[in-house]
Amino acid sequence: MFTEEDLASSFGVRQNTPEFVEIDCGCTNPRYGDTPGKLRAYVDGKVEIDCNYMEDCPKDKVSPIEFARHAGTTNAYHNWKSQIWVFSHDGHKIALRGLVC
Ligand SMILES: [Zn+2]
Repeated sequence: MFTEEDLASSFGVRQNTPEFVEIDCGCTNPRYGDTPGKLRAYVDGKVEIDCNYMEDCPKDKVSPIEFARHAGTTNAYHNWKSQIWVFSHDGHKIALRGLVC
């Protein structure tokens, strides 16, 4: 999903292991604002997100679609790639569209 160069130069990576990379992410809802999360992208292409909106939020290791729905967006099934973003190293938000296929 991401190349090593992307990771080093572009994103606010929290963890980079042989199995996955972990990046701060979020999902923006026009009404409720941003729901922050932690995105893990595995080498086999699987993507999982932990919701960080509240400390005790039960939404751990959910699919991006479920996370987008949890954040209150509509059309998450089709649009999660434009609704969920990751932080670049300088704090900008980059939509997953264009990063994942
Ligand atoms: Zn939550």
